[in-house]
Amino acid sequence: MKCPTCNGDCIQPAEKVLDEIFGMYMACSSCLPDPGFDKNAQFLEILDSGSGRCSKCGRRHLDFVIGNVLTILKKTGLFPEDAALREVGTPLIAFGYRIPYAPRLGRKSLVLIMDSITEEAAREIVEKVPEIKGVIKRKGLQSRSVGILDTDSNPHTYELLAGCDMRCDVISSSFGELCIYKNQSRIHIEFNNTKIGKMEELYIKGELDGTFIIDGFCGPGTLGLLSVLGGAKKVILNDAWLPALKNAILNIKVNSKILGVKIDFELQDYEKLIGDEPVLMATAEGNAKISVYHGDVRRLNNVVKECDTCLIDTFPSIDPSEFINVCRDIARKVIVI
Ligand SMILES: [Zn+2]
Ligand SMILES: [Zn+2]
Repeated sequence: MKCPTCNGDCIQPAEKVLDEIFGMYMACSSCLPDPGFDKNAQFLEILDSGSGRCSKCGRRHLDFVIGNVLTILKKTGLFPEDAALREVGTPLIAFGYRIPYAPRLGRKSLVLIMDSITEEAAREIVEKVPEIKGVIKRKGLQSRSVGILDTDSNPHTYELLAGCDMRCDVISSSFGELCIYKNQSRIHIEFNNTKIGKMEELYIKGELDGTFIIDGFCGPGTLGLLSVLGGAKKVILNDAWLPALKNAILNIKVNSKILGVKIDFELQDYEKLIGDEPVLMATAEGNAKISVYHGDVRRLNNVVKECDTCLIDTFPSIDPSEFINVCRDIARKVIVI
């Protein structure tokens, strides 16, 4: 499957990712130990693309990669000579998974989110630091969520300056794993694991198996696709933000074997960024019937009259009460995740 952003090989089927994830970032027998750099101290080392690289596996410790980037940033004059490693930005590994050790990185395995960066410097970083797959410039405060808050708000997105921003989070639950890909410059960065815990609770209580679930603010599809994994027979993924939905459709394809479903309809040449009246974007059949709608959750009652549970996962700054009331008209149960 070609990456829709860079046409490269960023997208791997979920079963391949899950087979390889445990060893993907682990040191080999010849890898250098953790260099023990102080991330808050003035960083005086001058590192190039060979620094800290393992002669056997060709990978290197995250800190060498960031140190290599910082050396470039100092040369361009964007960063002062006394800058520290932690000032470089937020590194997100291409296949995100909780690992108990510092990752050893191979080619194109890191997306960097940075505040102080130019397009020219971003291009130089992607060109000269082999591990960096993409550089994203953060816009606004770190606390501000990427995407749309409401259908009448302007979208807030970061800017992809160089390379590719497609990365994946491996979602691990008590009833199975999924790989959720996302264009990180256009999708909220998720660090919250309590949502998976709530899905596990529903699963244990038997509230997923055989049911009809609506994931009202589905984003790249995490909760809706977990519902399928948990045995839901009918699932609607809905979001008003088109980039999220495109990722959700991609995630149905990538997890197709694990979920036991296949896309049987996909709307082509549709580019309306923010949804209003629900438009059916894709359907999938198999172990469950999945329908993907681009629309305002408040108008979903025009296309679906009843379901068992509606999941509401808005941004933290949004009061969900209006959505709860609307969803109560069509769902037996409304759960704010
Ligand atoms: Zn890509
Ligand atoms: Zn090695």
